[in-house]
This record gives sequence, structure tokens and C-alpha cells, in this order.
Amino acid sequence: AIQATDHIWHNGELIPWDKAQIHVMSHVVHYGSSVFEGIRCYSQPNGAGVFRLPEHMQRLVDSAKIYRMPLPYTAEELATAVVDVIEANGVTPCYIRPIAFRGYGEIGVNPLRSPVEVYIANFPWGKYVPGNEGADVCISSWNRMAPNTLPALAKAGANYMNSQLIRMEAEINGYAEGIALDVNGYLSEGSGENLFLVRGDVLYTTPLANSVLNGLTRSSILQLAKQLGITVVEQALPREMLYICDEAFFTGTAAEVTHLRSVDRIMVGDGTMGPITTKLHKAFFDIVNGLAPDRYNWLTPVNVK
Ligand code: PMP
Repeated sequence: AIQATDHIWHNGELIPWDKAQIHVMSHVVHYGSSVFEGIRCYSQPNGAGVFRLPEHMQRLVDSAKIYRMPLPYTAEELATAVVDVIEANGVTPCYIRPIAFRGYGEIGVNPLRSPVEVYIANFPWGKYVPGNEGADVCISSWNRMAPNTLPALAKAGANYMNSQLIRMEAEINGYAEGIALDVNGYLSEGSGENLFLVRGDVLYTTPLANSVLNGLTRSSILQLAKQLGITVVEQALPREMLYICDEAFFTGTAAEVTHLRSVDRIMVGDGTMGPITTKLHKAFFDIVNGLAPDRYNWLTPVNVK
């Protein structure tokens, strides 16, 4: 179960965790009209820092814009609010969940006359994709949303009904996670993770055109790969590339960098974390854990005693 903290930020004020409630007739409950973020705050030897906070808040603002949802706060104000709520709760490391949604107002599908509410919660949260020795995953029988149905670049609550179908099917069939194909049958992403694979000495990932979220862990890994001199190719990838690749891994705020041990029970490489994944995994965790300089300014400091 979710571990409660003391305060949740709501429309500019800190309120008690238990008071952060909404009416059952709120628009979002019926029609999935929310946009949200998932962010991690890591502990470093000299304090704590939120990973890619401005970019997450910009993505929230972008998601709201796509859905014509007027946010009464700028990305900068929301970033300050995230720091405030973490400092008020004094819990690090933690996961942060900002959410904006259409609240109590009208009950028709049209959201334009229901008020926009913004909340930010933070709480402790550990490993997300099961499997310490790598994840055993499957290709889902569910596709990711086709373009022009639900916009994949918006991190909207409703998208996660598709993710839930993918994740439930995977779990029921004994897999840690499912990977969806896009409408054209190319690899897309996991239910909550972007996908990378390695063949030879080339790192591949699916481009934004294949119905994926513009993941901030994805973009961080792309930056680290360039720094490490690894050749990166962003192109549409057929499913069977996952069967013949040498390495594969997921990226995501929750999943961080999780290597895949098998896909559809076909072993990826020898099943262990391969050399390129290991390099990227280490470079990522060295920065977030404060063991290497934060050369890209990925961490926003928070003051927690
Ligand atoms: N794809 C989906 C569908 C997701 O939900 C997430 C998690 N936000 C990601 C990819 C990874 O994005 P990020 O690295 O920004 O967490």
C-alpha cells in the first residue's frame, strides 16, 4: 500500500494527506480527464535532489495544453511547489506525483466547464519492475494507442487504461511487464517504460513517432550514450529485433534502468546485464546518487534534515 506522508500540496496550499479528497461526481472520475507526472527525488552524500524537475514540470504543462486544460501555475511555480512539499514532508528519497484534473462541475463529457485542480504528493517508493536478475517480459497482445486516438506525448490518466491492459495481461501470464507494438506493428514501449536495445555496438530506441511518451529517463540515457561515445539510432524497430538483440532495457522514472532478461521466453543475450547497459546503468546511478558530478544539472536540491 502507498505510504502516506503528512502533507499534500493543493492549489497553492499544503493540506493534510487525509484531507486530499475529491467528490465522486468529479469529471476526472468518470472520463479520465487528468494529466500527471512521476518524478524521483534521490539522496546524495550531501543532501537530496529531484531528478529533472524543470523538464517534468514542462511536460505537465505540455500535457495540460494538449488537453486544453488551463493550469493556473507555470512550470517554474510547480517546480517550487514540488520542492516545498518534499521539504514539508521531510521524506527522501521519494517519488513525487503531481496531478492536474477536471474536478467537480459539469457531468457531460465536455470538460471545459469543470474546474482544474492541481495536487502534488510525495511518498517513499522502491523498485518498480519485478526481478532483480533482469525482467522477463512479453510482447503484449494489446497495441499502444494509434496516433490520432489518444496523444501519446501527453501523460494523461486515460492513457493508463491501455497501460493497465498491458500490465495485467503480462502479470496474469507470469511476466514482469509487457511491451506494446504500435498501430503499424513496430515496437513502442512498456506500460510505463521506454524501450532500448543493443545489437553489436549500436544502441537503438524507438522514436517519438511510434506512440511513446517522451521519457525523461530516455532522454537522459541518450545524453549519457553520446557522452560515452556509444552510437545511437532512433528508428522504428520490428518486434523480432528484441529476439536477436544482445541487450535490452527499460527506462522510466519508476523503472529507472532495468535490464530485460528475456522477451517471450527468448533469452536476451546470455540473460545478464550486458556491457553497454552496464555502462549506462552505472553512469545514470552515479549521477543520481551523487557519486559523479551532476554535469548536466539534472538534480534540483531540496533541503531535508
Ligand atoms: N512511457 C510511459 C507510458 C510511461 O508511463 C513512462 C513513465 N512516465 C515512461 C515511458 C518513462 O518516462 P520517464 O522516464 O519520463 O519517467
